[in-house]
Amino acid sequence: MQHCVVIGAGVVGLTTAWALAERGFAVTLLERAGEVAGGASQANGGQLSYRYVSPLADEGVPLKALRWLLDADGPLRFKPELRWQQWAWMIDFLRACRGPVNRRMTGRLLDLGAYSHQSFSALQQDARLDVVDLREPGKLVVYRNQQEFARVAARVTALGAGPEQALSFEQCVALEPALAFSAAPFVGGIFSAGEAVADCRKVCELLLLRLQGHGNFRGLVQASAEGFILRAGAAVAVLTEHGELSADHFVLAAGLQSRALALKTGIKLPIYPLKGYSLTAPIAAEHRPPVVSVTDFEKKVVYARIGEQLRVAAMVDLVGADERIDPARIASLRRNVQATFPRAADYAQAIEWAGLRPATPSGAPILGASGVRNLWLNVGHGALGFTFSFGTANIVAELVSGRVSPIDLAGLQLS
Ligand SMILES: Cc1cc2nc3c(=O)[nH]c(=O)nc-3n(C[C@H](O)[C@H](O)[C@H](O)COP(=O)(O)OP(=O)(O)OC[C@H]3O[C@@H](n4cnc5c(N)ncnc54)[C@H](O)[C@@H]3O)c2cc1C
Repeated sequence: MQHCVVIGAGVVGLTTAWALAERGFAVTLLERAGEVAGGASQANGGQLSYRYVSPLADEGVPLKALRWLLDADGPLRFKPELRWQQWAWMIDFLRACRGPVNRRMTGRLLDLGAYSHQSFSALQQDARLDVVDLREPGKLVVYRNQQEFARVAARVTALGAGPEQALSFEQCVALEPALAFSAAPFVGGIFSAGEAVADCRKVCELLLLRLQGHGNFRGLVQASAEGFILRAGAAVAVLTEHGELSADHFVLAAGLQSRALALKTGIKLPIYPLKGYSLTAPIAAEHRPPVVSVTDFEKKVVYARIGEQLRVAAMVDLVGADERIDPARIASLRRNVQATFPRAADYAQAIEWAGLRPATPSGAPILGASGVRNLWLNVGHGALGFTFSFGTANIVAELVSGRVSPIDLAGLQLS
């Protein structure tokens, strides 16, 4: 039996560990924190957004970004760093901000989203993953700008009967009555049926439990990976703070930290932290939370009811790998949320969180070969790591098994 070490126990590492164990590998999960979902997977937006996958890099975004930067409550923050990674990442991001590039990548990510959806359904069955708070309420993307909404609505309407529907604001309120209390100047929305929400951290905890009952799982080892031992172009062991751990294969799934770890063997990963915030507020009987999953397009805020809590996530801050909560940013998010859904939850009791999205300039994860034999990549999931993890785990496990990817990987590999 071949042995595989997966580095990182966020949602990507856990799903990968399961996919490998199911394919007959003995699997060890290496995690520096000793517990699962301590990184970006902890309190993210909870959206399983299989169809709403268009990357941030798009035509017109550089101009919008300038406007956002001038708005104290805007969704974007930028703090220049004296590090080449930030500037190199931004140059590549600007290069990706072209209509044809965005459309090509959106097509790829739609395929990945559909495959991930299918993979999640299979995982639920195979791992008996009875996720308590999982719901499929669909996603409503609401617009404040009439011109922007008209453009998107025309495209959706031209496609005819499909999974997306353009709705007037009155139709949005009929679908989601919580919008009736909103002070936000929404003009309409696009509804996609089938999109789901769940608590990513709970999914991770449940997956660890199922792995611990899997005959091929060798355990969660608490240690920080610090490099690799290479022999004849192949990885033979991972170096940890407690010594060497040898295996036949290694999968790097350490989120943002994958960049530094890969660099130790000369592999350059174009990953940069996009910092975001979330609030998790309790819902009581008197509250009127949204039932469908709502995305406020211009403010870049997502709302998901997860059990008896409202999870709100937002913001894209290019401020380096700084996980601290900036009081001004979280206060801005609170103001925005209170104006948009004033009666949805008890915001005074909300738990505040900040996390770092491990993002590539194109918005696509990097999967498969690393250039070092036996060292595989499952990294760079950015804003949609929860959504894509189920699919990317199967893809990488197939490649480690010596088979071909179930979907076309053009644009999803290290170039
Ligand atoms: C505000 C916010 C909202 C989001 N909303 C959504 C959403 O609604 N839907 C969605 O699909 N995605 C969302 N995301 C993105 C998603 O959370 C991430 O893409 C995903 O969690 C990345 O998972 P990961 O396993 O790659 O990384 P992580 O969850 O960060 O896990 C990496 C793990 O590796 C460990 N590690 C790091 N270095 C080492 C080392 N040297 N040795 C051993 N272990 C190591 C870390 O401790 C960590 O546990 C959001 C992210 C943020 C920040």
